[in-house]
Amino acid sequence: MVKMYYNEDADLKYLEGKKVAVIGYGSQGHAQAQNMREAGLDVIVGQRKGGASYEQAVADGFKPVSAAEAAKQADVIQVLLPDEVQKKVYYNDIEPNLEAGNALVFSHGFNIHFEQILPPTDVDVYMVAPKGPGHLVRRVYEDGSGVPCLIAIYQDATGDAKEKALAHAKGVGGTRAGVIETSFKEETETDLFGEQAVLCGGASELVRAGFETLVDAGYQPEIAYFECLHELKLIVDLMYEGGIATMRDSISDTAEYGDLIAGKQVINDKSREAMQKLLKDIQTGEFAKQWLLENQVGRPAYSKRKEIDANHQIEQVGEKLRSKMNWIEE
Ligand code: NDP
Ligand code: MG
Ligand code: MG
Repeated sequence: MVKMYYNEDADLKYLEGKKVAVIGYGSQGHAQAQNMREAGLDVIVGQRKGGASYEQAVADGFKPVSAAEAAKQADVIQVLLPDEVQKKVYYNDIEPNLEAGNALVFSHGFNIHFEQILPPTDVDVYMVAPKGPGHLVRRVYEDGSGVPCLIAIYQDATGDAKEKALAHAKGVGGTRAGVIETSFKEETETDLFGEQAVLCGGASELVRAGFETLVDAGYQPEIAYFECLHELKLIVDLMYEGGIATMRDSISDTAEYGDLIAGKQVINDKSREAMQKLLKDIQTGEFAKQWLLENQVGRPAYSKRKEIDANHQIEQVGEKLRSKMNWIEE
């Protein structure tokens, strides 16, 4: 069994007396900055002006400064900008303000692992990666609990990098739920694989394919929406609470028999081969190269595919149905 770290394994004293800069007040930034502040850490926000994130940081009681100013003032600099933006901001604003003994912190290993950012050798470089979306990192913390986190040490210049990473994870709320140590390589590769093959790519395509199959066969789109999208949450909630076995205990025997015989026909050797291909492209850096290139040319494929999917019938049907579901929170 892997070693898990909890509250009693982490000591905030490793970050006390230090200023922690959170650069980028987006999904992760707003959550981690507020959690750490409530944990008693001295947090400063580095956020460009002119957008909603800046206004949000002000509304949440921070006095945001530029990324360069935040990096200059802080001892611990956490980069919570979009991955494809980090390199530019790092070299323009952060690196010139790094001092020996500072810590550079990430919540995803992309730029370090794929060598987009090469930090100087005299700073600690570690990761605290919550395994959940930002709004949950905040909401769960406010409820007194936390989202599990991964930590990883890329560079230990001070000898305290791991203690700092654990303290940082405690500030974010991660040690309330459990923290696991990994490497930048493992976190980056498994995170990219998970979101591509299962959580985002796999799940959304599975939903759309099921929806299309029913609608093409003449069934009502609203029924197809409920069967293939809406109910997925209820099934996933059961898996989350007790694994696949608990989910199977809760569904009818008919559904369970269908599960047992049909699942392997949908996700078959061909799908597994596709997953292996995705993993290989991640491991070789091919995916990273493609994504960085896509950004350099203004994201043509990203924008086109996003537009096509946004106009899919399932979105229109869903919008109408959800407007009547008053139990769904904003
Ligand atoms: P978001 O896209 O939510 O936040 C982006 C922030 O960066 C905003 O404050 C935005 O400000 C600012 N920003 C965007 N573009 C620029 C730019 N060109 N120059 C300066 N600032 C800019 O990012 P996430 O929170 O999703 O991701 C942050 C990190 O956390 C990433 O490494 C990601 O992989 C990781 N992560 C994210 C998770 C998530 O739940 N989203 C989960 C786990 C890890 P503005 O409003 O002005 O554009
Ligand atoms: Mg990710
Ligand atoms: Mg049913």
